[in-house]
Formats: sequence, C-alpha cells, structure tokens
Amino acid sequence: MRCYCVQEHGAPLQQINLPIPEPQGTEVLIKVHAAGLCHTDLHLWDGYYDLGQGKKLSLAERGVKPPLTLSHEISGEVVAYGDQVADLAVGTQALLHPWIGCGACRYCKNEQENLCLKPQQLGIVKPGGFAEYILVPHPRYLVDLQGLDPAQAAPLACAGLTTFSALNKFGAQIHQQPVVIIGAGGLGLMALTLLKAQDAHGAILVDIDDAKLQTAQQLGAIATVNSQVADASQQLNALTDGGAAFILDLVGSRSSLEFALKTAARGAHIVVCGLMGGEIQLPIPSIAMRPITIQGSYVGTVQELRALLDLVRERDLKMIPIQTRPITEVNQAFDDLQQGKVTGRVVLLHAS
Ligand SMILES: [Zn+2]
Ligand SMILES: [Zn+2]
Repeated sequence: MRCYCVQEHGAPLQQINLPIPEPQGTEVLIKVHAAGLCHTDLHLWDGYYDLGQGKKLSLAERGVKPPLTLSHEISGEVVAYGDQVADLAVGTQALLHPWIGCGACRYCKNEQENLCLKPQQLGIVKPGGFAEYILVPHPRYLVDLQGLDPAQAAPLACAGLTTFSALNKFGAQIHQQPVVIIGAGGLGLMALTLLKAQDAHGAILVDIDDAKLQTAQQLGAIATVNSQVADASQQLNALTDGGAAFILDLVGSRSSLEFALKTAARGAHIVVCGLMGGEIQLPIPSIAMRPITIQGSYVGTVQELRALLDLVRERDLKMIPIQTRPITEVNQAFDDLQQGKVTGRVVLLHAS
C-alpha cells in the first residue's frame, strides 16, 4: 500500500510502499477514503510543540518518532477483520475514533480513553490516515457514517469532537443562559453551530478580529464583543446581566483566560480547551468566594463522537468548510496550512 510518511521531521513527506497490514483478533482493516490535515499534524511533522518564551516540548521525549503516518481525522470502509470480530459487515463506511487508550487503565475502563496515560491514538502514536489502509484495534472505534459524506465528516473526529465535548461540560444549563465563546475561528463557529443545533439559549462570541466577529454575527450569534476595545468587559457585563455564567475559552492564552475570569459571574463555569499557552496568576480566595469552576476539556470520548454524528445527521449541520485535495498533494497541503493559506480544513482523498 502507498503511505505518505514523515521519514524525517520538517522534511517533505515521502511516498513509500508498505505491506497491507493483516488484522488479527479484534482488529479491523479499513481502506481509507478521506484523511483530514489538522494543526496538530504540523507539530508532529515539526517534531515539537512551541510552548512560548523559547521553550519547546520535544515529541521524541514522548515516544513519537519517525517514521510517522499522520492524520487522525479518518474515514473509510471496512475491508477485513480478525477472527474475534462478529457483527461487522465488509463495506461498512465509518469515521474512526482516533483517541484510543491502552484499554487497561482506570480511565480506559471508565470510558475516558481520551485521558489515558498510555495513549495509542491513531495518526499520532499509531499509524494514521495518510496511508491507503489502517488497522483499528477494535470495532468499537468505528462510528457509522451512514448518510454522511466521508470527507465532510472526517474533521468531526478532532475539531468537531473537541468543541462538542467542551460544550457538553456545561450540561443542560445552556438552555437557560448564553454561552460566551472566546475565539471566533473555526472552533468558535462550530461551537456556535452546535449550540444552535441543540436549541441552546445562544452564544456571544468574543475575539480580537472584527472580520471573524462579523461572520459569527451572520451565523446567528446573539452578540459579539471585540475584547481589545477599552470597555469590552463592561459590554459583556451588560449583555449577560452582570456577568457571564458559562464561558468557553477556545484560545487558552493568558489574555483569554484573564478576560474570562474578569467577566465571569458569581458561580460561573469556565471551560478551557484552547492550547495557545502561557500562565496566569489567580488569587486563591477568589475561587472560593466567587465561587467559580475552571474546567479543562481535551478532545472527547467515542460515545460523544457517536452523539455528535447523530446530531450532524439529524440537523444536517455544516460544521466546517472543507477543501478536498488528492493525497498526492499532501506536501503542498502542509505548506499551505503552515503559511496560513487554509480556511477551514484540508481533507486529503485517497484514490478509490
Ligand atoms: Zn488507558
Ligand atoms: Zn486534530
């Protein structure tokens, strides 16, 4: 099978030929149709995460070394499976849940594989979608694609799931109060779409870019605030009757979280899933006395991915604009993403 592999960090991906893997036991062999390119793939290609202030987190230290087959946003069809798999039809179209754990630890046993300390994620630790075929360790990681386009659905496994899981942390209260969303980029617009699809009270989008805020307004935000104007927090206070009860921080920087804390109401719930980085200083008594909840959110579970696909199917949601390209253009796609030339998501298609 053809595989487009990172043989050396930062160098163009190489097309190499590898044997088609043979599924054993509970494993399922998938023929890949579509594989999304995410910002995380750029970090994996580079070999490090930039933590700011000259600090770098090396991926080799975390056991991620070339050769790498990237892409964790994968859809395809079942072509074979091991002898311990029952009730699975060859030809089934599926989106793959990539956030796979070890299967044995307390998180994995509690259906929180995305929190596993020995992760086996597809396209990060294990081979991903930039190859013609991929092995999945168990059929439970296949989410039925019935009625959905494989390329449109691919980014739901990462960007879509991250946003959906973060919003789920607020629970049913989203029907009573607006959610303030910090960051009106791709994830912010997805969060807005998901809130509308769940008939939530509404979303107030915050960003530093007026053009993005205008798009959010057109897509149905109940209000928008540019956080760089002098009276931004007063504006937000007025819009939320004296302080935001629910804040989703999709940026995750010092300035975004400081803004969230400044505009939070008493008893507010702040969910952080942005990873821009930095650190904050927070007076401890304010946590108790205000009293606020700051919660993190990292990707999501396979149950959430199933629920997300059901919602997208039922409400016919357009979650993220995609551009499709043949897999042979994968290196140009990396260059374009790195140079900021991509709006939405690039999804690479394998020849059928
Ligand atoms: Zn585990
Ligand atoms: Zn991703």
